[in-house]
Amino acid sequence: MIKLKTKEQIEQIRQNGIIASKLFKYLKTVIYPGITTMEIDRIAEVFIRDHKAIPSFKGYEGFPCSICASVNEEIIHGIPCKRVLQEGDIIGIDVGVLKGGMISDSARTFAVGEIKPELQKLMDVTETALYKAISKVRPGAPLNDIGGTVEDYASQFRMGVVRGYCGHGVGFENHEDPEVPNYRFRQGKKKLMPGMVIAIEPMINLGDKDYFVLDDGWTVVTVDGSYSAHFENTVAVTEKGYDILTIEPEDLAEIKAKFKMP
Ligand code: MG
Ligand code: MG
Repeated sequence: MIKLKTKEQIEQIRQNGIIASKLFKYLKTVIYPGITTMEIDRIAEVFIRDHKAIPSFKGYEGFPCSICASVNEEIIHGIPCKRVLQEGDIIGIDVGVLKGGMISDSARTFAVGEIKPELQKLMDVTETALYKAISKVRPGAPLNDIGGTVEDYASQFRMGVVRGYCGHGVGFENHEDPEVPNYRFRQGKKKLMPGMVIAIEPMINLGDKDYFVLDDGWTVVTVDGSYSAHFENTVAVTEKGYDILTIEPEDLAEIKAKFKMP
């Protein structure tokens, strides 16, 4: 069942999303060769708690850490550990922030030092796919406009769009209805309506779309070992269109211009 949110609840999610956005800015200054994913987790947890909020992934279905940290061929749900980041790696950081009874969900992929141009392209395509998809959000639009946009855009570059994991409603819980796949699906004729809050999160592989889960029960990796990127924002459907809740308001104009958003 889709649970709509009130204006007040959406504002609380925005407050949480702003904490996540500030966290990502801070992480950009600490993600360098030599840091471990466990250290990034620790930094993130302290940052979130300093903002009187709670990392909502910690303990969720038994997840042991505050963030998901997915390196290189890891697509999502990587568990922070003693792994030391190397020059040329890419790392996806995914974070849920709980405060005031509401949750925001967002992710960014970071370059570790200098990366190969093809990896920069992978990151650019994934981030662009996210904002192209967000641009389609408005009341009455079919859910399929989101996934269809991601699928069409990424396919042009012959990159693999992961299908087994998807975006979702969010707010009261980490995961709510509806599912928001990154491709067209049968139930995708469902329409968006004001008050819906959804996490849109393309996961795109440089190679094939196929994936499997490691023995740790969490980490999703590509079958062919190709690297994968992940970008995510929590977005509210408004009376007129979209409202991105996990970007600081002062950064929105720049984002809209960069990605040519309406
Ligand atoms: Mg997430
Ligand atoms: Mg999510």
